Amino acid sequence: MILESVATVFRYANSAFAALQSTWKALKGLIYKRKRVIMALEERTTELEFENRSLKDEIARKNEIIGPLEPYGYFFYKDRPNEPLCPKCTQSLPSHPVNLSPIVIGNGGSYRECIHCHWQKYESSEQPVQPVRMGRPGIGSFRNR
Ligand SMILES: [Zn+2]
Repeated sequence: MILESVATVFRYANSAFAALQSTWKALKGLIYKRKRVIMALEERTTELEFENRSLKDEIARKNEIIGPLEPYGYFFYKDRPNEPLCPKCTQSLPSHPVNLSPIVIGNGGSYRECIHCHWQKYESSEQPVQPVRMGRPGIGSFRNR
């Protein structure tokens, strides 16, 4: 009688242990899946934090910049109104404000040039004047055509 009771208890215990093992295995699978979801969310959160920081920086920079202003369409930092910024670089996405060169005199006018993208704006003449070739008339040379 006692042996039968002990055997019954062991059967119940084995059955309960098998059920626990099955539940534990299912829980481990669920935990693994949740862990992967959490890792993907953490990665996405990091990307969004970086993007948010970048956008905040860009907004702050845009609030510091005015333009395009006539007559040349330049942009300027509000606190540096005598240092024009390249319109092309300033309006690119993401914005990359770069100072234009000091005025250069040459090619028939005066102009500024972006040291980054080489955009140019003539301030005294829109078109550069072609160089004047000197030589004897009638032998393929020309003068101020
Ligand atoms: Zn530029």
